[in-house]
Amino acid sequence: MSDFAEAFGRSPDVVAHAPGRVNLIGEHTDYSGGFVLPMAIPQRTTVSLAHRNDGRVRAMSMNVAQREPITFELGHERKQGSWIDYVQGTIVALRAAGHLTAGFDALIESAVPVGSGLSSSAALEVGLLRALRQAFVLDLADVALAKIGRAAETDFVGAPVGIMDQMASSLADAKNALFIDTRSLAYERVPLPTDVEIAVLDSGIAHDHAAGDYRTRRKECERAAELLGVRELRDVDDVGRTASLPAPLDRRARHVVTENARVLEAVLAMRENDPLRVGRLFDASHASLRDDFEVSVPGVDRLVALAQAHPDVLGARMTGGGFGGAIVALVRQGRAGEAAHDIARAYSSRHRGHARILVPEGKA
Ligand code: ADP
Ligand code: MG
Repeated sequence: MSDFAEAFGRSPDVVAHAPGRVNLIGEHTDYSGGFVLPMAIPQRTTVSLAHRNDGRVRAMSMNVAQREPITFELGHERKQGSWIDYVQGTIVALRAAGHLTAGFDALIESAVPVGSGLSSSAALEVGLLRALRQAFVLDLADVALAKIGRAAETDFVGAPVGIMDQMASSLADAKNALFIDTRSLAYERVPLPTDVEIAVLDSGIAHDHAAGDYRTRRKECERAAELLGVRELRDVDDVGRTASLPAPLDRRARHVVTENARVLEAVLAMRENDPLRVGRLFDASHASLRDDFEVSVPGVDRLVALAQAHPDVLGARMTGGGFGGAIVALVRQGRAGEAAHDIARAYSSRHRGHARILVPEGKA
């Protein structure tokens, strides 16, 4: 019997998927209206769903300890401080956007690592919204769907995230990067240069206070924009202007302004099929996140340094919000699996760290 049948005693009407994502470059720029360049990873979240004739929602996840459906009534969503808030928040945001559904049963299964900076939360929201779109024939375009997923997370769950994750999960694939202007939400697919591929390793370091630090950085960026007299740091083109800010706002703003420039240059370099230049931009991005934005931690710096020193790696950086989590490396074509192994091995023997290989898939 399928897990769905076991949980709900019938078969699903629809099955939808949504991938996790890795951000290649453009970190901590999305809440300043800036540029990002994520791509989808092979791991994805699957949502199986069946209609109900009443207003009840029953949802179960195969990725949490509690293996029984959690129930709530449509229109009576209440924050519970657990994963079900992502489901409730998605329904609340969907309704607020004018789309109505009846009740449903949903089963969630995911191969996206949770809490590693590869956006399992967006994969859950986008996967659920895709299943609902199909089941209830909702008139929902991919960008609108991403906005609803984001609203679920910011408005209901209470995580003040930018739009990158949901845009990436809704619109990206695992072969092309997705260049997004997070202010206009204009986007473009940019193929990875030929001759390179991506490796992603989880450092195994989880920072308990990441959410609080993330909020602090957001506030610092808002304050820096205010002092510079611009709407958002996106509007600063001349990095020299950031020098007038008091510390540490000068460094925070310098990161955002230079990171936006690096994204634009990386897109150009990818179009010109210049992987060496893209690799150098990865390295520069990491230095900026470590020294100016101060969102890296020593263990992640060590993992990035090992990656950068590998002969088949063209560049490496932390990816995601920081304070632990994953790194991404640009590797010569056909070498990502082996390089990732070498890096993980060196991390364990020299630093006693336990890195997990997330991409390429199945190489752990
Ligand atoms: P990330 O998105 O980087 O993986 P977040 O902290 O943003 O990390 O989101 C992780 C949270 O999303 C989990 O703690 C859980 O509440 C929820 N979540 C994500 N995927 C699932 C899943 N498959 N089943 C249940 N909850 C999930
Ligand atoms: Mg998330």
